[in-house]
Amino acid sequence: MIREARYYQRQDDKVSCLLCPQACLLQEGQKGICGVRRVEEGKLVTLNYGLCAAISVDPIEKKPLYHFFPGWEILSLGTVGCSLHCSFCQNWSLSRGDPQKLQEQLTPSGVIGLLESSPPEQQLGVAYTYNEPFVWYEFVRDTSELLSENGYRNVLVTNGMVNREPLEELLPFIHGINIDVKAFRDDFYRRYCKGKGVKDILRTVEISAASCHVELTYLVIPTLNDDPAEVQEFIDWVAALDRDIPVHFSRYSPCYQLDLPATPLETMEKIYNIAREKLSYVYLGNVMDTDFSNTFCPNCDNLLLKRAGFGIRNMGLEQKKCKKCAAGIRIYGDIYGEKT
Ligand code: SF4
Repeated sequence: MIREARYYQRQDDKVSCLLCPQACLLQEGQKGICGVRRVEEGKLVTLNYGLCAAISVDPIEKKPLYHFFPGWEILSLGTVGCSLHCSFCQNWSLSRGDPQKLQEQLTPSGVIGLLESSPPEQQLGVAYTYNEPFVWYEFVRDTSELLSENGYRNVLVTNGMVNREPLEELLPFIHGINIDVKAFRDDFYRRYCKGKGVKDILRTVEISAASCHVELTYLVIPTLNDDPAEVQEFIDWVAALDRDIPVHFSRYSPCYQLDLPATPLETMEKIYNIAREKLSYVYLGNVMDTDFSNTFCPNCDNLLLKRAGFGIRNMGLEQKKCKKCAAGIRIYGDIYGEKT
């Protein structure tokens, strides 16, 4: 469905998109970098309003969100388009997809209908995921407001590419976010993601962390963003902002246009150990050893939540406190099946 987009302005005979830091300046008929916003008759229009490319029910842990309603499942929706062009994209068929090929049309009230007809453990709300949700801005904005009014939760899984004003307009309806910090160097964002730099992403993390539950993901790519000094700077930055923000270091394996060998497990373990010195909750993704996906008490190291696959077992938590030392543990919402 084609609709007039939010956040743009006319600039002589061109149109300037104000939604994300790419700041596309577009002529009549031209699409933005995201591939889903185009100038038509002097207006910027969104080409993917309500058009769905992927719909599924996933464990919340798959987003990944480990400290947000643990054990629940969440209706997960995605479309096509992305504001970055990462050479290692794990979802390139969606990020580079064509909105004109999409058939499934959703409406915000239709999404409520889907939730109402779901089993109780799937009625948490919606995750906007699979592609970049900020390039679906108008639909995400309308749907998340309606869901919020009806008591459901909204989750974004995002690359963090959004300008301050649209982010602040959306955040009152958002309860949890996982934000990718793809590197801690501007050069990486320019060379491998066709972005502008990491500062835009860090601003999104800071603004979001003041408003809702935030977790971060850092995909560790050998030789490109695994330099110990760079990783340490990232860890220090998170620790200075809020050491209780959970951080997921994910292991790279070859994908799309990048054909480097998979990240060595030793690199992942080293990063895990360094990060745990400064951060309360650290996890490794895409590694076989499930110990790295367990939650430990940051005060006494007691095992709190044990994860296997996407299942969880409560081993040491009671009323969001460690049973052993009574330290408060950051958990947003109930653990499924328990009222806390
Ligand atoms: S959302 Fe970003 S990438 Fe898409 S048109 Fe606007 S500025 Fe360009």
